[in-house]
Amino acid sequence: MTLRSFRICLLPGDGIGPEITAEAVKVMAAIAAAADVRFEFHEALLGGIAIDHTGSPLPAGTLAEAHAADAVLLAAIGGPKWDTTDPSKPRPEQGLLGIRKELGLYANLRPVRIFAPLADASSLKAEVLAGVDMLIVRELTGGLYFGARAREDGVAGSATGGGAGRRAYDTMEYREYEIERIARTAFEAARGRKKRLHSVDKANVLESSRLWREVVHEVARDYPDVELIDQLVDNTAMQLVRNPAQFDVMVTENMFGDILSDEASMLTGSLGMLASASLGDGTALYEPSHGSAPDIAGLGVANPLAMLLSVELMFRHSLAMSDAADALAASIASVLDEGYRTRDIADAGTAADMLVGTAEMGDLVVAHL
Ligand code: NAD
Repeated sequence: MTLRSFRICLLPGDGIGPEITAEAVKVMAAIAAAADVRFEFHEALLGGIAIDHTGSPLPAGTLAEAHAADAVLLAAIGGPKWDTTDPSKPRPEQGLLGIRKELGLYANLRPVRIFAPLADASSLKAEVLAGVDMLIVRELTGGLYFGARAREDGVAGSATGGGAGRRAYDTMEYREYEIERIARTAFEAARGRKKRLHSVDKANVLESSRLWREVVHEVARDYPDVELIDQLVDNTAMQLVRNPAQFDVMVTENMFGDILSDEASMLTGSLGMLASASLGDGTALYEPSHGSAPDIAGLGVANPLAMLLSVELMFRHSLAMSDAADALAASIASVLDEGYRTRDIADAGTAADMLVGTAEMGDLVVAHL
């Protein structure tokens, strides 16, 4: 067997970042020993810690490491130490937005999966959540958030009177290639799952949505094995709480995806369990959805599972290690099935000896691999 070698850029960042990164490294080392792979870890600075050491939230060296890597694993950045409203001061978030932009990450993937033992953490009834396992593919660099916008003060009123005052507008614009590449990302992802893709738009009202729908159907010709369903965004918002199990993969434009992925994330009820992947044409970036949790940093109680689920995504989407991804997902599910919980996912029924810290949770995942 040939030994495959992967270069991983680690960005531990701030707050609980270094603690959960240590667990990711521990689990990846255990997987490397069992599979025919070798991981070469290159740690770099991003966010607050990068400001402290270099004055910049995204030093040039970090960007070079990211470009040179097979994948980037980012924990979290930010904290009260660097909070400022002074626009001349660097902020940690600039590092995060900067690296996404520099790597050209146009597709954001967010899996939403219900781990049965945690179903009670959701605000929805457990029977509605049964079988929920979806992937939201959000377009990340186009649409309303990047279109032309302006604001005018003192606009004159119409001829019929009234309407004078301030005016503002934003533009939702999509080009064919932007829709085509995100559609391909989604179809490919659906191919590796249950082969069902919901394309979400507002084609009954918006011209950009009509182009979206047209292009998605053109791309669909290359994926005859994937079932394609068009759904209007308002209906999707309703279906996500009515019957979320109908979704396998969902693809949508930037703003719709921003709103729907936050809605869907609440199906799980737990921030410590949500991972995400951002893909482009080059190196992809993987990160938990939560922040740096400065309130619990250094206490050894942070939940490392969202970080480990980000590693699972990295195995699937960047390293072609789907067996290892399956094994990692199964291991996490077993640990939860046995009743082990970090503080954030514990409830009144969690026995004291089942309450574990960050490192212990990582050890349990390794032991169940
Ligand atoms: P947060 O996600 O850091 O924390 C919200 C709450 O969830 C806190 O009570 C925290 O203790 C808890 N929590 C989060 N992750 C957890 C984990 N893995 N295990 C256990 N508990 C966890 O959000 P916030 O408090 O709004 O922001 C804190 C800092 O993080 C801010 O500086 C913010 O800008 C930054 N932030 C960074 C990212 C990122 O790096 N992608 C995302 C969101 C917020």
